Amino acid sequence: MAVTIKSKLEIDLMRESGHRLAKVFDTMQAALRPGMTTKDIDRIGEKAIRSLGGIPNFLNYNGFPASICVSVNDEVVHGIPDDVRVLREGDIVSLDAGMIFKGWHSDAARTFPVGAVSPEAEQLMRVTRECFFEGIRYAREGCYLHDISNAIADHADRYGYGIVEDLVGHGIGTNLHEDPEVPNFHVKSKGIRLRAGMTLAIEPMINIGTKEVEWLDNDWTVVTMDGSLSAHYENTVVIRDGDPEILTLVSNH
Ligand code: MG
Repeated sequence: MAVTIKSKLEIDLMRESGHRLAKVFDTMQAALRPGMTTKDIDRIGEKAIRSLGGIPNFLNYNGFPASICVSVNDEVVHGIPDDVRVLREGDIVSLDAGMIFKGWHSDAARTFPVGAVSPEAEQLMRVTRECFFEGIRYAREGCYLHDISNAIADHADRYGYGIVEDLVGHGIGTNLHEDPEVPNFHVKSKGIRLRAGMTLAIEPMINIGTKEVEWLDNDWTVVTMDGSLSAHYENTVVIRDGDPEILTLVSNH
């Protein structure tokens, strides 16, 4: 599949989708507290998506049984919400959510602390977010796709963190996952040349320990092989001639 260039009108619609998704994260973040279950978060997130006129694009995607991926501590991504797992003070929780609005997808992720967390966890969350912003310095017309990947990897390497290689970012538009793949690790080739109007979901997944991950028996949830903490930070961005526009970031999380 070719990498698509979106028109101004199409980007306007993706912005509407992305700004709504940012509000969903505001709602979920405000509700987060120790004692709630992962399913509580899913219910809150799904309700917010629908109340904003959107459709949760993760629900039933390849059979995924929820609207929000809720991944706790050593869970990297694709945690399945349930009524059993209770969030405890000191946990970190990665929320990955997306929506369709007027046919256009948006996709974002944040890792939030549950109450007070360890300095190690705080640093991991901060650096994972910084990795995204290091990467998007190169998300502009004239740069190459893997400039983004290498900048993300350089920053994670400064802290000796493990960069997940088994999952990557992606193009996005009228489909949740489009070409190109956007690696978060070092790649020798340049990758495609970036052009204004490309829309990418850039999403570093960073572990305190090893980069190696495994899948749980539910065939969805990805966890770190060594049980170390993992964080995830993602936004949907538009490549422009100049700084990219981040469609899924309105407030400051
Ligand atoms: Mg994504």
